[in-house]
Amino acid sequence: MGFRKLSWSFLCASLFATGVAAQEPQVVHGGDERYKVDILEVVAHPDDEAFFTPYLARAIYGLHKRVAVVFSTQGGSGANHYARERGPALTNVREIEAREACARLGISLVWFLDGKDTASQDVLDSLSNWGHGANLERLVGLVRLTRPEIILTHFPGIFVGEDHGDHQATGVLATEAFDLAADPTVFPAQLSGTTKHRELYLSNLEPWQTKKIYYGSDANDGKQFDGTGPAYSVNEISPALKKSYARFAIDAALPHLTQGETGRLSKMSDAEIEKLLSDPDSAWWSEPSTLIFGKSVVGGKATDDLFAHIDEKPEKRRENPGRCRERPVAEGKGPRLELGGPWRFYEEFYPVHGLCALPIAKAPEIGIKTGADLVVPLVLLHEPSKPLVVKVTAALPEGWKVTAGVGKWQLPAEGSTSLPVHIETPTLSTEELKKETAREVRISAEVEGKPIGEVSLKVVLRTVALPQ
Ligand SMILES: [Zn+2]
Repeated sequence: MGFRKLSWSFLCASLFATGVAAQEPQVVHGGDERYKVDILEVVAHPDDEAFFTPYLARAIYGLHKRVAVVFSTQGGSGANHYARERGPALTNVREIEAREACARLGISLVWFLDGKDTASQDVLDSLSNWGHGANLERLVGLVRLTRPEIILTHFPGIFVGEDHGDHQATGVLATEAFDLAADPTVFPAQLSGTTKHRELYLSNLEPWQTKKIYYGSDANDGKQFDGTGPAYSVNEISPALKKSYARFAIDAALPHLTQGETGRLSKMSDAEIEKLLSDPDSAWWSEPSTLIFGKSVVGGKATDDLFAHIDEKPEKRRENPGRCRERPVAEGKGPRLELGGPWRFYEEFYPVHGLCALPIAKAPEIGIKTGADLVVPLVLLHEPSKPLVVKVTAALPEGWKVTAGVGKWQLPAEGSTSLPVHIETPTLSTEELKKETAREVRISAEVEGKPIGEVSLKVVLRTVALPQ
């Protein structure tokens, strides 16, 4: 009995001595709410934020949504249309122009990845030149920091148009980040909690599942995307801004003085800008403008409003990653010919990332500068245990000429062999180009006199185009 009494008195004394019973719990900080956004816009170059600015103006000033922007490059290549600085100096200038443009939209959360402005239409060139992995890790970290409900980014795919490899690569990175930010096994150091009192290396972020992703395309023919997502008026007058969303977006683009097209705006009168906006041939955005639906982990359909169903709990993402668009596989196990390069990459990319509803060109297509070398990237899939002799032939429009890639080839003993065909295209005048229609290039292959496949590419010759 005496022992029990002694214990109780001792316990009480201990509690009072340490003061634990009287103290409020100490606070462990959660995620920083200043960086939580509704929309994360991920675009390639300074001034590319304009792909979505009329909608962003609507979201910010009409719906009171929070927006952050990630640029994947500082956009240093190309000419300086305002002053003499070029190259690395121009990247520093363009970063500030982009920050000023975003500030005019009401966006202060702006980050830049380390992508290098890459003048090519090939997404794989851009991803390689940027360092795909390090930039993806950084973007996943930014998704986990900003916790967006919606990502807006470039269309990952190939259409006749600007077809910028940097735009496509940005769309690829953003799509990957959409999936990977939610996966606790991806870049786990970003998610690891602090292990030391003053932690130096671990980010202490949380996994984050963005709900929806939408794309904007740089294709010439924007009409082909009608109905593939929600469409919003750009000419509607914003009650808060007292001007149209398009006009507000144009005004926000004025700081891009070093850029060709946007730099031109600062020299235009009010009336000239209004005329530019009202002319469907020169307007920057179609009326209404469609945001191309990529995918969603909540309910609803592709054309629903961006924020429809946004408060629903995300479906478990990895339950059915699905191969939603089966690759066309040739009958049997014999050798076969396929289109390679970026086209082959996207055939793998779409189903793996569940982009089941994405609009794609009816047939593979590309626009190149008249007189430029056209490259048709081929891949020959064959039996890996023995070498193979294959004959490649090309059927071309009149005046087009093969410079390399056709004839008989002995392929090494490997599962797939890349074999590009190079074609010289005619140099046409501006007048001739106006009458020019899309041409078809067909490449065939045969083994021991038997055909093993044919690849077709629709090619549009243009006055200017990025190198393929
Ligand atoms: Zn761009």
